[in-house]
Amino acid sequence: MVSDLNFSYSFIDGRGGYFCRGCGGGNLFSGLDLGKLPIANELLPSQDSEIEKFPLHLRVCIDCGLGQVADVVTPERIFRDYRYLSSISSTFLQHAAEFVETLVNQKMFEAGDWVLEIASNDGYLLKNFLRLNIAAVGIEPAENVALISKSLGIETITEFFSSQLAEKILEEYGYPKFIIANNVMAHVPDLIDFIKGLSLLCGPKTQISIENPSLANILIGLQFDTIYHEHYSYLSATAVSNLANINGLHLFKVEELTIHGGSNRYWLKRLDSQISSHESVARIKNFEAENGLFDPQLWEAYAGRVEEILRDFLFWLQTTKKIGRRIYGYGAAAKASTILNSVDVELGLITSIADASLEKQNRFMPPHAIPIISPRTLLDEKPTDVVIFPWNIKNEIADLLRNSLDSKTRLWCVIPNMHEIGCK
Ligand SMILES: [Zn+2]
Repeated sequence: MVSDLNFSYSFIDGRGGYFCRGCGGGNLFSGLDLGKLPIANELLPSQDSEIEKFPLHLRVCIDCGLGQVADVVTPERIFRDYRYLSSISSTFLQHAAEFVETLVNQKMFEAGDWVLEIASNDGYLLKNFLRLNIAAVGIEPAENVALISKSLGIETITEFFSSQLAEKILEEYGYPKFIIANNVMAHVPDLIDFIKGLSLLCGPKTQISIENPSLANILIGLQFDTIYHEHYSYLSATAVSNLANINGLHLFKVEELTIHGGSNRYWLKRLDSQISSHESVARIKNFEAENGLFDPQLWEAYAGRVEEILRDFLFWLQTTKKIGRRIYGYGAAAKASTILNSVDVELGLITSIADASLEKQNRFMPPHAIPIISPRTLLDEKPTDVVIFPWNIKNEIADLLRNSLDSKTRLWCVIPNMHEIGCK
């Protein structure tokens, strides 16, 4: 039985076998082995800082459809001093505001209703509810990030979400009308306890909305750079549907979103809820099966394709540098870390990486300590080529750079293959 297994911090058994983080089964196959990489968001404080590397190997469960990496790094290490702020991107801010507007237009809320967001980050989403006088509570374990949310007047609990915390919240506040868990389920090592927590807080009228990049996009869209240690799980509609059922919940709708290069929004309700189900669930589950999401042979071919992309990128860097061009990066995000460390990019190939986040500037990107600079410095240093790493917001960044850079500066993106970003 699932409950007999110890899921906290490791799902590797004593004999080196693996159990699925979602269903507890033992039928996992290898999706993509990226070798040993540093923790993606752990930027170096100085050029000679030591780098710790950990294995990063995506496996897929045949039984429930969940993609996963072994949780060799504890969440305390990854998330206590988290440097990712949602409000850094105007795309994310707009996405959050539009979502809240849609909910309110549907007249989902009545007097006395309240909203709970798990992993509320800097308050980028909940501030929209507050503006409309709808009560909202956020849960954000990263203390540095929660402080920003609190300064906006958002009630924020600085803890990791768990079934234990869910019980306390239920006692204190009652059932929320709406629970939002965006881009967080991937970050949870003890997924079963997390879903149990959701289930506890899901009243007869509660709806749960979960946004997460989908395993289908990692496979079909070649988005392997979204695989990193802090993403323990890689969701699919098939997996969410199975995990919900195991825990007294029901997946009743799936929406396909363009945010983050293609995410799914999963809607859950209580098994006994009156809310009617939507055709999208069966449709997307079929799509996943038809596209080989749970086919080990297809993943094997995929690994070969990823190797090719990485080889092309390194070759481009070396040949472009050789002819004297000045290559910079933009976006010192986790995606950049996965790619740069997977090819072990040599010192000097990329001069610096610009990032708008003050939290990241003046730090260094592993493996060979590429300095992180401000976008202003990037413009002053007049690069000839800029590689934009966050491909999910590449147009937003490209527009921004084109306004200020020499028109001859070339802008590039590595995913889904090395390409120049065309002018609009
Ligand atoms: Zn499973």
